[in-house]
Amino acid sequence: MKLYLLELGRVRTGEPILGYLVQTAGGQNVLIDTGYRPGTLGEEGNPDMAFLQAAPQQLVTVQLRRIGLSPEEITCQIVTHLDPDHAGFLSSFPQAEAIIQRRHLALARASEAARFLLTRPVWGSPDIRYKEVDGDVEILPGIHVVETSGHVTGHQSVLLELPNTGAVLLPIDAMAREHLRSAEERTAGPFDENEEELRRSTRKLIDLADRRKALIIYAHDAEQWAGLRHSPDYYD
Ligand SMILES: [Zn+2]
Repeated sequence: MKLYLLELGRVRTGEPILGYLVQTAGGQNVLIDTGYRPGTLGEEGNPDMAFLQAAPQQLVTVQLRRIGLSPEEITCQIVTHLDPDHAGFLSSFPQAEAIIQRRHLALARASEAARFLLTRPVWGSPDIRYKEVDGDVEILPGIHVVETSGHVTGHQSVLLELPNTGAVLLPIDAMAREHLRSAEERTAGPFDENEEELRRSTRKLIDLADRRKALIIYAHDAEQWAGLRHSPDYYD
């Protein structure tokens, strides 16, 4: 199994927006998150001022092409949650089943919150084949989703078991940067829905990482990102 880290955009404050491609020994291509779609926040007039940004070479389809993959070759997507920096191109992979927590999809469908309305034209596409799951599930051998609500209801993180690197934990926005890893000391940010659940999920992730001796790769940590292997390099 190989893990590629894809830089799919930037936050204006400098943090990367990461997505992930996992290639299994059995020939499956599993895409975890699809990054930011420029224009989603209505910034066409002044793209340099946008809170979230993605340069043309950072678009997920371009990043995948660099490692030799077409959109049709993605066999599975893991949808961690539907925020604009994670689900921008969810509807661009026609062969991929989209794994999502049942509670998250139900919330998005019922919600009038901007975080869901902005991306509804993408995630609401009838072309997406959602597979709804509940809680912690092994999707394929060595690929687990871990339910981590708090940032938003039904947010999910991912645990991978790589042959040489060992366990790798992708907390996504349950713990987006290294300094948030203390369940007791961390605070909720402006985009976090429930602080109590966020602390519970942080504790769950740290316990899991300790137990599995996992390498934690953060979704939005500029300092850590500078020292990680960037696609087309990979972890195996
Ligand atoms: Zn995010």
